[in-house]
Amino acid sequence: MKKHNFYAGPAILPKSVMQEAAAACVDFNGSGLSVLEISHRSADFGAVMEEAEALVRELLGLGDEFAVLFLTGGASSQFFMSAMNLLASDAKAAFVNTGRWSDKAIVEAGQFGTVEVIASSEDKNYAYIPKDLAIPADATYLHITSNNTVTGTQYHSFPVTGKPLVADMSSDIFSRPLDMSRFGMIYAGAQKNLGPAGTTLVILRKDLLGKTERAIPTMLDYNTHIKKASMFNTPPAFPIYVAMLNMRWIKANGGVEAMAKRNAAKAALLYDAIEASPNFHCPIAKEDRSVMNAVFMPTDESRTAEFIEKAAEAGCIGVKGHRSVGGFRASMYNAMDIASVQALVDVMNAF
Ligand SMILES: *Cc1c(COP(=O)(O)O)cnc(C)c1O
Repeated sequence: MKKHNFYAGPAILPKSVMQEAAAACVDFNGSGLSVLEISHRSADFGAVMEEAEALVRELLGLGDEFAVLFLTGGASSQFFMSAMNLLASDAKAAFVNTGRWSDKAIVEAGQFGTVEVIASSEDKNYAYIPKDLAIPADATYLHITSNNTVTGTQYHSFPVTGKPLVADMSSDIFSRPLDMSRFGMIYAGAQKNLGPAGTTLVILRKDLLGKTERAIPTMLDYNTHIKKASMFNTPPAFPIYVAMLNMRWIKANGGVEAMAKRNAAKAALLYDAIEASPNFHCPIAKEDRSVMNAVFMPTDESRTAEFIEKAAEAGCIGVKGHRSVGGFRASMYNAMDIASVQALVDVMNAF
């Protein structure tokens, strides 16, 4: 039976990408060696790194003012690395708290400078995105989580601040076009919408560096990785390779504009079905609902496990809600076809 993968992360990748990656595990580029065993200093792998960076630049339309890095340590390491590198100890960063992940970013950044939480949706269980922000004039940057993987909200327009935005885009990178003039930094753990777990994409405006006097360990200093094009030490070669294949797939399928259309159609199908059903409801403010991760609840809580079982019987895997939220969550990343969302909607309608 076909499996429809609704897991939040690690998450779905296009079948063709996994097939190509599998073949390269045996023989990479006809070299007679596996992509898993070639030197990261070889010409073949150098070409992978170059193409991966070039695809990031092309898909998002990045100018030379931005550095593109493939790092390790997950998005969780960027919670502290961003502040460590961008925020002077006597300076301030503004944060919006939209729930799990942004709350962790706030804690980590607070170790390096002053953190001011200028807005939070905690009062309503994170079911909306705070708007009308008052940004402190002395803030170095504003940090947001563009898509809230756990709570099911997403910024559909970004705050106008006059400050560089630093955005955790772990779960919606490459899901839509971005006006990059608004962003100072974007980071994303690969395992939601980019590739397998193991690498973290960092996009960084280089002029934001050099504002702090603190001593930074070599491996945690963005400049180290900028100077060496993410090859200061051994990069996570295989995750970067698969991310590169996935970016090729995004490009071949119309780029981020086409992804945005696909994703909007899938989300509309699912949210409309939730609205129409007496058995489910979505607790998230309509205008802030995530196109990537739909959070929804059963009308009758005692039937939660039953629905998850029915979904699994139809091949729909991973629809259990995050343990901190309960209910259901359907993650519909780029690689998911609308037919998979229809399969879940069919289960909902039959429930
Ligand atoms: C999953 C996730 C993280 C954590 O990513 P790791 O790579 O596991 O550290 C951070 N932020 C968001 C928005 C996420 O979805």
